[in-house]
Amino acid sequence: MSESVPRYWRENKVRERLIGSKCENCGKITFPPRKVCPYCKSKKLTEVELPKEGKLLSYSIVRKPPAEFEKYAPYAIGIIALENGVNIISQLTDVDLKDIKIGMALEGIVRKYREEGEEGLIHYGIKFRPKLK
Ligand SMILES: [Zn+2]
Repeated sequence: MSESVPRYWRENKVRERLIGSKCENCGKITFPPRKVCPYCKSKKLTEVELPKEGKLLSYSIVRKPPAEFEKYAPYAIGIIALENGVNIISQLTDVDLKDIKIGMALEGIVRKYREEGEEGLIHYGIKFRPKLK
């Protein structure tokens, strides 16, 4: 158990960054990162760090999520236009559903995503919340 702790923290560090993949052939950026470009099918992709700030383009409210996300329901999944023009899909957090507005400024933060099994293995990932002024 003691050996797994450092690795656990290392992995968390990685997840604080928003990583996508950039196609060397057509230049398109995708998130989450992929092995094959969905636009031109090239396999020459490199990892790029994406900006963690953007604006809400649209969203939908999830009331009946998969079992593992049930305790977060209802929650909102948004399409977010990042500052570099890339659109990504992410869960919105720290906001009342009634306060969500198209065009609102958002920032990415690391949040607990889900817990697994009896050991309570916790996964972290990027969610977006209203940008603090
Ligand atoms: Zn491509």
